[in-house]
Amino acid sequence: MIRHFPARLSEKKIIAENTAELTFAVSDPDFSFKAGQYVSVEIPSLSEAAAPDRYHDFSIASSPLNPKEISIAFRISKSIFKTALLALPIGGTVNIDGPKGVLVLPDTNVSPLIFVAGGIGITPLISMIRMATETSLSQQITLLYCNTSKEMTAYAEELSILEKQNPHFVLRSLIGAPDEKLFAPYMQKTSKSFWYIVGAPAMTAVVKQILKNFDIMDPQVRIEEFSGYLAPLKI
Ligand SMILES: Cc1cc2nc3c(=O)[nH]c(=O)nc-3n(C[C@H](O)[C@H](O)[C@H](O)COP(=O)(O)OP(=O)(O)OC[C@H]3O[C@@H](n4cnc5c(N)ncnc54)[C@H](O)[C@@H]3O)c2cc1C
Repeated sequence: MIRHFPARLSEKKIIAENTAELTFAVSDPDFSFKAGQYVSVEIPSLSEAAAPDRYHDFSIASSPLNPKEISIAFRISKSIFKTALLALPIGGTVNIDGPKGVLVLPDTNVSPLIFVAGGIGITPLISMIRMATETSLSQQITLLYCNTSKEMTAYAEELSILEKQNPHFVLRSLIGAPDEKLFAPYMQKTSKSFWYIVGAPAMTAVVKQILKNFDIMDPQVRIEEFSGYLAPLKI
């Protein structure tokens, strides 16, 4: 059920080059979410602004096992919204609307899952990987994580630790532009796997086309587009 509530900024940190993570203490005692869902974040001081400047959608990167605190992560830009968000002091308040979205883990363990993350598209996927590890889920997950550089790779260290902790999770870190040349060697025709693709529209389109060439389409493919990141923005 979608809820509306204020949330207080409790932590602000840089987690990769040009990439920030903010954590909010949730005031609604009944708030819960599924790993992979997102929220709309509204900044009260921008309440008079037009829609994209007033609020932005962000996937929740933290684990749903602690719904009292939610973390979001994003590439820093000079947009009106992100300038105001980054200027928010610790203890400052935003309005949250959510949870929203259907990019969640299957109810029961199914065929292997292959996650493809383009840059900051890692956010909903790391929430699922964190939860799967914390609950010792036997779901097989492979993550193809593409970034333009090592420095831009958010959560790199934690993902390596999760790979050691979780015998069902495999990490493949790919460095380069998110194009067919980069992804193709790691993608193969498979009748069983389910694919979760998250990133900027240009990146999700490339991966979707490679899968289509293998005749892999709906319902084996789920896509979350981070609309608002327009090519050639580095994600
Ligand atoms: C379901 C979902 C989950 C998302 N999760 C994340 C996340 O975890 N981390 C993250 O960094 N980003 C995420 N995004 C994208 C995020 O909402 C912003 O669009 C993005 O961060 C760019 O914001 P900006 O302030 O830098 O750019 P802006 O200056 O706000 O936008 C750049 C351009 O894109 C347009 N635009 C902005 N938002 C949208 C939109 N939603 N749809 C279409 N056009 C738009 C603007 O009008 C402008 O022309 C998500 C988006 C969606 C839809």
